[in-house]
Amino acid sequence: MTKETIEQVLQFRDERNWKQFHNPKDLAISISLEAAELLEVFQWSAEDVRCEEKKDKIREELADVLNYCILMADTCGLDMDEIIQEKIKKNAEKYPVEKAYGHKEKYTEL
Ligand SMILES: [Mg+2]
Repeated sequence: MTKETIEQVLQFRDERNWKQFHNPKDLAISISLEAAELLEVFQWSAEDVRCEEKKDKIREELADVLNYCILMADTCGLDMDEIIQEKIKKNAEKYPVEKAYGHKEKYTEL
């Protein structure tokens, strides 16, 4: 994600004076609600697990999740790139390629 995109999300918020409403609890709730809307795209879809037929709705809900993630990171003073890179390192330690390659089990089961 580019700095420009992040700045556009924050500018949208600031132009509406909405920062006052963006506490960590309500942003975490909003991330979860938007993630649920993303799940709803697949509700009752049986074995349909591909993106093609639902791509427009997936785009919209995934963007909602990411927007709230940007707002949460900003509110908590977290750098998106930094926290993602830290998580990649932690996950690489939990899931070394030689153990995890081609396996879906949790790291405790590898
Ligand atoms: Mg939504």
